[in-house]
Amino acid sequence: MTQQVPLQKALISWFRANQRDLPWRHSYAPYEVWISEIMLQQTQMDRVVLYFKRWMDIFPDIQSLVSTHEDQVLKCWEGLGYYSRARNILKSARVLLEQYGAEIPSSRKELLQLPGIGPYTAGAIASIGYNRDVAVVDANVVRIFARIFNIDLIPDSPEAKALNWETAKKLLPEGQAREFNQGLMELGALICRPRNPHCSSCPLAPYCLALKYDLITERPVPKKSSKIIPIEMATGVLINNGKLFIQQRLPDDVWGSLWEFPGGRIEMGEDPEEAVLREFFEETEFRVDVASKITTTTHHYTRYKVTLHCFLVTLAQKNPDPVLHAARNFHWIPFSALDNFAFPAGHRKLINHMQNSGFVLEQPSGKPD
Ligand code: SF4
Repeated sequence: MTQQVPLQKALISWFRANQRDLPWRHSYAPYEVWISEIMLQQTQMDRVVLYFKRWMDIFPDIQSLVSTHEDQVLKCWEGLGYYSRARNILKSARVLLEQYGAEIPSSRKELLQLPGIGPYTAGAIASIGYNRDVAVVDANVVRIFARIFNIDLIPDSPEAKALNWETAKKLLPEGQAREFNQGLMELGALICRPRNPHCSSCPLAPYCLALKYDLITERPVPKKSSKIIPIEMATGVLINNGKLFIQQRLPDDVWGSLWEFPGGRIEMGEDPEEAVLREFFEETEFRVDVASKITTTTHHYTRYKVTLHCFLVTLAQKNPDPVLHAARNFHWIPFSALDNFAFPAGHRKLINHMQNSGFVLEQPSGKPD
């Protein structure tokens, strides 16, 4: 740690005057800081604020979380994506209750033992929640350092990572980690943005080498762009006796423990209808017929674009029981109960389509019930 120097003073003064009014900044309660930081991994601030407020209404403390079924936690998280974050919060809450008396530890070392907490999040909770002198490095910090110090390294390289953490620790002003760390990240979010940074309003402009040498568009060193991979999938909404079949994914699977309609990837040479019939049998041993096409949804994930072909299907056999091969649980539910369960984004789009288009789920005539 160093004595405060003008760069740090400039940043903290700017943060005090310009910080956004975020709900977890009202009291800096460590529980709130923890939840906000987990939500902010992979999710935009505007969405996080909405979800954070709802979360705190439902789960205001660790005890309320621990006494809740995982399904309710996932339902509260539905739409935020990356559901392992919610499951890890629940796992961590149990550890915190058993080992720390429902308190959140302030040491980076102990925080790192909790599920879903890596070096950045541990530093953020320790510094923002407890104002401990612990550094943070996130994408905003990487970008600011690359510009201020004109770092000519690919950000993901081991050298760049080590340099960024070392720099963050060296710059940290003693006793002011809460404001300094948030100041860096706030500056990255509001001023030193990836494109078109507002250098004329930047408190760090006097120290910025990329500005001085006109290298801002080169810093950080651009990564090679990775291609988006298209994936075609098919799913079936099975109706029988006026109820819909949903199944709960296996806990360690992608979208673990979320609910879904059976389905999967369309294989080479298959059309979407054939894929639905095959997937249904492989996953449930139900033999089904396609009654009609409902819609096609598309959803973008970090590296994938998923096109989901959605069908209404009916049983081709009389009242069988499912044999689950890709799920841990199932329900037959009325259409009106779909909102009580957490679904992955693609399936939620399908549900929204059915709800908003006045889709009528009726047993097609002449089918077994
Ligand atoms: S002067 Fe511009 S490029 Fe440099 S830190 Fe500030 S906003 Fe970023």
